[in-house]
Amino acid sequence: MDWMQFLSGTPARDYVYQETPYEEQVRRAAGLLNRADAVLIGAGAGLSTAAGLVYGGRRFTENFGEFIERYGPAAMRDMYAAGFYPFPTEEERWGYWSRHAYVNRIEPQALPLYLKVFEMVCGREHFVLTTNVDHQFWKAGFEDEDIFATQGDYGLIQCAKACHGKTYDATGLFVRMNQAVKDCRIPSGMVPKCPVCKGPMAMNLRCDGYFVEDGHWHQAAGRYGDFLNRAVGRRLVLLELGVGFNTPAIIRFPFEKMMGENREWSLIRLNLDEAAVPESLGYRAVGINMDLAVCVGDIRTAMREGTGEGSGHEE
Ligand SMILES: [Zn+2]
Repeated sequence: MDWMQFLSGTPARDYVYQETPYEEQVRRAAGLLNRADAVLIGAGAGLSTAAGLVYGGRRFTENFGEFIERYGPAAMRDMYAAGFYPFPTEEERWGYWSRHAYVNRIEPQALPLYLKVFEMVCGREHFVLTTNVDHQFWKAGFEDEDIFATQGDYGLIQCAKACHGKTYDATGLFVRMNQAVKDCRIPSGMVPKCPVCKGPMAMNLRCDGYFVEDGHWHQAAGRYGDFLNRAVGRRLVLLELGVGFNTPAIIRFPFEKMMGENREWSLIRLNLDEAAVPESLGYRAVGINMDLAVCVGDIRTAMREGTGEGSGHEE
């Protein structure tokens, strides 16, 4: 989506790309983080891409060669497109999804960029709101009670028709499925069935009207609300990492709205090419267009050196 076109229909007409030099932006971001009472991380797909979980290119062709051959390169362009393929049988659907879950959720260890993000906030009150479903925040050391993953998890499955509100850990199942895949399909005996209605199961991902928000999801949502309430009147930094315009209603737009309502809060928006910020936020916002792997490292270094100049609280 062309985001300028998207924005022309919204009230957010005051977006600007800040012209401050990169090094100064980094110093300001580091200063804000060093003096924060608490940090709210909002993380989108751009963070995982920058961390190395790329959905196309060699990572796709090397892991999904047999699938590309069977279903054709037009339908199998990358892992996004492949996830929407209408697999004709359950055996084939799970053949694909067990591989997808394996390479994105099960096999990767904590990635260096996520570890750096953890270092940035550890020792300080923090919370993570993320649309990412690859479980990297947990792997990087964040506590479960500090994470709200709103869109699901590649390691969980649910009833495809959401006949009951539970999710099931499928990481062990996916390892076994992935080993058993032959001709792009799993053995029929491995196809999971809903324990309640006996119908098909599905990935616990928000992709249709049947996404299950289980008890854990609701607890996390409640903890997110509690965190925001505690932050009122304090110096909270909203650290937005790689959030584009695919699902802006979950992180990007709410962050801007909350900035408007809380004068003590500041926003650090890191994005490869969509780091424009509302001009009306003035010094309270830092928007940096840069590869996240680079600028998270630079901000981390600047934080350690304590070179934050403390801009953002002149008033
Ligand atoms: Zn069911």
